[in-house]
Amino acid sequence: MLEEFRNEPLTNFADEHNRRQMEDAIAAVHAALGQEYDLIIGGRRIRTADKIRSLNPSNIDEVVGYVSKADTELANQAIQAAAEAYKTWSRMSPFARARVMLKAAAIMRRRRLELAAWEAFEEGKTWAEADGDVAEAIDYLEYYPRLMMDMANRRDLTRIPGEDNEAMYIPLGVGIIIPPWNFPLAILTGMTSAAVVAGNTVVLKPASASPVVGAKFMEVMEEAGLPPGVINFLPGSGGAIGDYLVSHPMTRFIAFTGSKEVGLHINTLAAQTQPGQIWIKRVVAEMGGKDAIVVDETADLDAAAAGIVTSAFGFQGQKCSACSRVIATAPIYDELLKRVVERTKALRIGPATDYATQVGPVVDQAAYDKIFSYIEIGKKEGRLVAGGGKAPGNGYYIEPTIFADVPVEARIAQEEIFGPVLAFMKAQDFRDAIRLANSTEYGLTGSVYSRNREHLETARVEFHVGNLYFNRKCTGALVGVHPFGGFNMSGTDSKAGGPDYLLLFTQMKVVSEAL
Ligand code: NAP
Ligand code: MG
Repeated sequence: MLEEFRNEPLTNFADEHNRRQMEDAIAAVHAALGQEYDLIIGGRRIRTADKIRSLNPSNIDEVVGYVSKADTELANQAIQAAAEAYKTWSRMSPFARARVMLKAAAIMRRRRLELAAWEAFEEGKTWAEADGDVAEAIDYLEYYPRLMMDMANRRDLTRIPGEDNEAMYIPLGVGIIIPPWNFPLAILTGMTSAAVVAGNTVVLKPASASPVVGAKFMEVMEEAGLPPGVINFLPGSGGAIGDYLVSHPMTRFIAFTGSKEVGLHINTLAAQTQPGQIWIKRVVAEMGGKDAIVVDETADLDAAAAGIVTSAFGFQGQKCSACSRVIATAPIYDELLKRVVERTKALRIGPATDYATQVGPVVDQAAYDKIFSYIEIGKKEGRLVAGGGKAPGNGYYIEPTIFADVPVEARIAQEEIFGPVLAFMKAQDFRDAIRLANSTEYGLTGSVYSRNREHLETARVEFHVGNLYFNRKCTGALVGVHPFGGFNMSGTDSKAGGPDYLLLFTQMKVVSEAL
């Protein structure tokens, strides 16, 4: 019997012992930078001439690793290897599959700070953010096996005389797992482990900005005893091999997390039946956000300001759940803005590997350029009240930036920037605030800071987002506690880390025997 699921506690770095251990982990990973990582297809390691050079965004002279890059021929081999492994893995007991995941959780727990250090180097995650990401990955490896075991034990059919009926949740087939780089271990582990524990086999194409962390995940799964071919590791450019993987006739499902543009493209492509294809492909697509925090005149303004700054600038605003809009009612608008600007200006910017850093660099040159282009747009659409410029350092450092008095139709109030840029908007009253909050095509997360019970109850019904929070930040969803996923253009609302998630990776077979 397994004990009940519990979230992995976060590491307290204020404790000097933990701090030293993290410093040691950072030193060890620093010494291990610049190595080569291979593709893994059917358990075989394959090295290609063409490689992804993964840079440290905090110091772009440092190469975190050189990662082999697949082409479509290797992508085909990976799908064939997954199909071969499916023959045995899909027939294995769900309990045996679950045990591999639980073993992987134990290995990750032992390597916890080392994995966090890799994230600090490869993605520019601060200590706390990196630690949280590894903890979330461990949570998925503990949560989904328990769900699978529950599903295997479920007996909820109605009995009728003279018949024996059984329902089984069986896997779908070969899946393509396409995670983003921003939760490089957590989301990758979550989507992959859910698919695999349910009995599917997969091709895992990590994001090109986080392939080394993906390779570390593969080390963990191999050590846990996962059979070859169950997860095929296929780094490569999404633009070059993504369409091939998605449209392959042997692909049964695609689990994607990333931008709206790519998610919609995958959905369209997956809907086109290929010669030889004998199923409708299933698409799980979790996409972007334009998340708002609403603050009314009854709110605790200090708590609201603290929640806004953490939600907007934690991991440099590069979270799907990040707050990118503040909607404040008129009576407290100026005061709230002042407090948020004060806190923002006090944030310490620096290399993610430094303990003291609160805001690190953004992930790469493309993100850096895109964010600055939005800052230029913002200067025409709103009033710049904080940041707006480069921050010093040999990396992709951007000052946390705030624009005030942004109108609802502004591009910086409608489009996902995915960086440390926040738009402040003024509402006439609470109703107006909810109207503004619902004014984008997205619907992922949102918060309301208020002490007015009627306002909270109105928001509970009318604020149309998949994850709504009251009097707390809008980031930091916990596995099992806050099943996560958004509405509208934020995706298919798959609710990762929730009790129904595995249904997306299974189909129910019912066998009825006359007695
Ligand atoms: P992205 O640019 O859409 O990339 C996501 C993944 O798709 C990457 O692995 C990428 O590969 C791949 N890809 C690109 N083109 C493809 C194609 N034609 N076919 C198949 N795959 C393709 O997103 P990102 O920049 O990594 O991540 C940021 C986005 O993710 C934001 O929009 C954020 O809101 C969203 N996100 C959503 C959630 C959620 O739960 N809703 C969570 C986290 C992030 P390459 O890296 O090789 O291009
Ligand atoms: Mg991208």
